[in-house]
Amino acid sequence: MLILDGKVVSEARRAALKTRIQKFQSSVGRPPHLVVVLVGENAASQVYIRNKVKACESVGMRSTRIDLPSALSQEALNATLLKLNGDDGIDGILVQLPLPSGLREEPVLELISSAKDADAFSYRSLGYLWGGYSRTAPCTPQGVMSILEYYKIPIAGRYAVVVGRSNIVGKPMAHLLTMANATVTVCHSKTLDLRRFTKEADIVVVAAGQPRFLGREDFKQGSIIIDVGMHGTGTSTGPGTAIIKDPGHVSAKVFGDVRFEELEGWAFAATPVPGGVGPMTITTLLENTLSLAEKRLNLK
Ligand code: NDP
Repeated sequence: MLILDGKVVSEARRAALKTRIQKFQSSVGRPPHLVVVLVGENAASQVYIRNKVKACESVGMRSTRIDLPSALSQEALNATLLKLNGDDGIDGILVQLPLPSGLREEPVLELISSAKDADAFSYRSLGYLWGGYSRTAPCTPQGVMSILEYYKIPIAGRYAVVVGRSNIVGKPMAHLLTMANATVTVCHSKTLDLRRFTKEADIVVVAAGQPRFLGREDFKQGSIIIDVGMHGTGTSTGPGTAIIKDPGHVSAKVFGDVRFEELEGWAFAATPVPGGVGPMTITTLLENTLSLAEKRLNLK
């Protein structure tokens, strides 16, 4: 079985990014600049933000971290975002989710300018993506597409099943596969007889957030399995039940939605967890930031 190694793909893409960033720096006179906003003191979010800042450093991108108190009002958060939108020296903005209780995500997703929306979660960014006018996409599904591209996995004409329909993974994943000319079915928690679909598929992307719930018997022989799920022991909600929403966090033991060890001798190719989709998510965030910067400054 071919192991689709996200670390290898990530390293290759970061090397290419470094070159693009050097070019950007020589024509603009500064590196691209990502601002990450953290509201409150959520411990996991602190780790995620640190990893994003470190990733920027690793490719020569500038990052600024803005820490805001959890008692912040919605108006103050909105005002911060508007100020960042209007600052010409900022190329990408990311607000770490979830927000503390009392603050709503919806205004954030409405307010972040699509020209600077590094996560590509905002309603306008998703609209552009759906309309086919976007050069960025939510990081995790776009990272999956980069893995498939790196390993030259043919997509056009193939039958793909996406398990999960969240706005940040499942739905954009299905859209990206459709745009790559796959025929796509989206499954979710109310799908009757999930296996009927997964067993037919040439490519299955599993993003259900259910620890190790699919194995060899759920897939067609020779298929390609992408496991987006990320679960860890050693987290506060107990072994095997905690869902890690951000790939930067690696706990004592991390596993996915798929029983990877059962796939050897059955699947054609599969992503491991850890080391599959996870490393690609932050790399795609960096790529999105640079692409937005190049577009906003008319460099490409
Ligand atoms: P959500 O909880 O937002 O969505 C999960 C989706 O899976 C829902 O659409 C849900 O259906 C569906 N689902 C749940 N249980 C089942 C089931 N038994 N059978 C079929 N479908 C089911 O999760 P996210 O999309 O945010 O994340 C999914 C997983 O990916 C998580 O494990 C998360 O930690 C991981 N993740 C990993 C990233 C990475 O970089 N590796 C980045 C982001 C997420 P319904 O809509 O009906 O509720």
